[in-house]
Amino acid sequence: MAFSQSEHDFFELLKGDINGCPICSLEEERVKRSMKVLLYESITKRQFRKDIRFSRICRKHYDMFNQSVKEDLTVAGLGPAIIFWDMIKSQSEEMDKNPLFKKRQKSQDCYFCSYLETLPERITQSAYNVLKDPKGTKSFKDTQAVVCFDHFERLLKVAGKNKDKAFIHTIQPIQKAKLERLTDQLRQFIDKHDYANHVKITQEEALSLKIAFQTLLKI
Ligand SMILES: [Zn+2]
Ligand SMILES: [Zn+2]
Repeated sequence: MAFSQSEHDFFELLKGDINGCPICSLEEERVKRSMKVLLYESITKRQFRKDIRFSRICRKHYDMFNQSVKEDLTVAGLGPAIIFWDMIKSQSEEMDKNPLFKKRQKSQDCYFCSYLETLPERITQSAYNVLKDPKGTKSFKDTQAVVCFDHFERLLKVAGKNKDKAFIHTIQPIQKAKLERLTDQLRQFIDKHDYANHVKITQEEALSLKIAFQTLLKI
């Protein structure tokens, strides 16, 4: 089966050196890319300017944007500066006209949350398409990657919609084994904190704490 672009990207991620949730990784990469495209390349698009003008930015997207700017130092701040200028100026003027900000009520949520609303569903669908392919199943089994609980539930939901019991029977034991491995590593990490212990904590055991945290992340 030929993979689409997203599926291909997900498959490449699985083959790479990943230890947390590969679906979270792909989603994060897509969100950052969309934000960059919007804030840097869409300043001339009237509809976008109109839509974002009276909206706000949630904490998650604020953090992601800051992070992506740090990762890519070649991007200049001109695009976002123009958009933020517009947003603040418009909202400040609105404040003069109407202290209760009535105009904002339609779009008081984070612009990026609404814009990217269907992204998690699309990403999970791509991940499902890859994971049900024998090549994808094998790569997932071979990597250190563990799918977070939220994404795993979404995957099972997609499989359920497709009446794909075979997928559930294949993927469930693999994920289960990964979770067992993770809890074993965490247990080692915990036990080695005993005062009587003199064996050093391995890197994998230390990493298990971070992965456990990610596995419980609410997406
Ligand atoms: Zn995830
Ligand atoms: Zn948001």
